[in-house]
Amino acid sequence: MITRTLQEIAAMCGGQLKMPAGRDAEADALLQGVTTDSRKLTDNVLFVPLVGENFDGHDFAAECLRQGAGAVLWSRSQDDYPAEGPVILVEDTLLALQQLAKAYLEQSGARVIGITGSNGKTTTKDIVTSLLSTTYKVHKTQGNYNNHIGLPITILSMPEDTEMAVLEMGMSARREIELLSSIAHPETAIVTNIGESHLEHLGSREEIARAKLEILAGMKPNGLFVYNGDEPLIPQVLGERETVKPEGLQTLTFGLGENNDLYPTGMMFQEAGTTFTASRYYPQTAYTLPLLGKHNVANALAAMAVAAHYKVNAENIRQGLEQTKLTGMRIELLKGTSGVTILNDAYNASPTSMRAALEVLASMNGYSRRIVVLGDMLELGADAEHMHREVGLFITPDKADLIFTYGALGAFIAEGAAEQLPAGTVQAFSDKSKLIEALEAIIQPDDVVLVKASRGNRLEEVAQAIQHFT
Ligand code: ATP
Ligand code: MG
Repeated sequence: MITRTLQEIAAMCGGQLKMPAGRDAEADALLQGVTTDSRKLTDNVLFVPLVGENFDGHDFAAECLRQGAGAVLWSRSQDDYPAEGPVILVEDTLLALQQLAKAYLEQSGARVIGITGSNGKTTTKDIVTSLLSTTYKVHKTQGNYNNHIGLPITILSMPEDTEMAVLEMGMSARREIELLSSIAHPETAIVTNIGESHLEHLGSREEIARAKLEILAGMKPNGLFVYNGDEPLIPQVLGERETVKPEGLQTLTFGLGENNDLYPTGMMFQEAGTTFTASRYYPQTAYTLPLLGKHNVANALAAMAVAAHYKVNAENIRQGLEQTKLTGMRIELLKGTSGVTILNDAYNASPTSMRAALEVLASMNGYSRRIVVLGDMLELGADAEHMHREVGLFITPDKADLIFTYGALGAFIAEGAAEQLPAGTVQAFSDKSKLIEALEAIIQPDDVVLVKASRGNRLEEVAQAIQHFT
């Protein structure tokens, strides 16, 4: 994590250091790390008070100093700052946090890999990290710290000797990725895909693509742009005159289609994961990824392109893939008490990731029936009803035998599915305990069940219930 003297920190964030009376000599004291959460105070940390809609971190600044914070940033009124300890006066605490992160990253000399896209950012970040860690000292975004506050916090928690920083960049509106890219200056950027999340704010898939490609705006000259070539909107937006990109940008495409620079030449799906071969780098090698689904092969290919660019050798790429560990609740294979197999993907959902999960289910062989339990996809805007129906239409009889939906929007999935599946195989629920009862009556030990919805639906409760069916 960042370790600098009070004076250095003040200079890095463009602030003015105010020492309490009689303590000027302490301006050389070291600050260690940064927090915006007064409950996570550690000794000598810099406390950054942020101003939100319902709270103002400045209210906690004096208390933080009493409890051992090394200093606090302060932007409220410039003359009534706390006297309990060192204060760094700035114009805007959030901007100062971002500026500090930017300066620290530049001083560290770490090379940055920035990852954005509608789905698969965290997964790709985890795979990239696994591959690069075989050869370099890598720091990655923890959890989902991927926004205008999380990204600076991620950077400031990075050890000084980090060689590669793998940073996830999330957004919900235009100009957000541009800001993150201007803080992190990626040398390499990945766009995993363009989906439909945030359509509500952005209006069209073109606008979503433009928002993601803002990552190019802050990139270093001669950087590498690795993008999903299965998505025609990416090269389209890349070619638009308004798209800001660095001098000498190199590009490389990955994806499932054979027109990409890097694509899978063979894939085999098993319960424990996926084995595939690739068109480039080491085409003779069979790679095993402990993740399910074609979409994760695509994520892995993006990561392999980056690793190969940084000269990670074949054996390390192979081992790194095999040892990939994911950050949290992703499509997860569970075994129930009865022996039933559950694909738990209740962490989030969008039309793209719903289709990806349904493909995973379709690739699972050797079960008596494939059952899906799907809930609402939230935040899709005016077109939500249509998009739910489209997901329903995507569920052809080769993908699933029985469909259960949950929630008001989920009901439109049921409507779509009912158009092509036999009568009596599709049921919609609005009451979770009734849904669980219906599942309990029907699920057999040799079935495989996919459970997926937006987080707000809390369908993990259903996945857990299924796990305990006897
Ligand atoms: P968030 O916006 O929540 O940070 P994210 O982009 O980090 O999401 P992940 O957490 O990696 O994405 O994966 C979220 C979901 O998207 C999972 O349900 C997973 O099954 C699905 N997913 C992952 N990669 C892809 C992909 N390349 N294409 C489509 N769906 C994907
Ligand atoms: Mg994420």
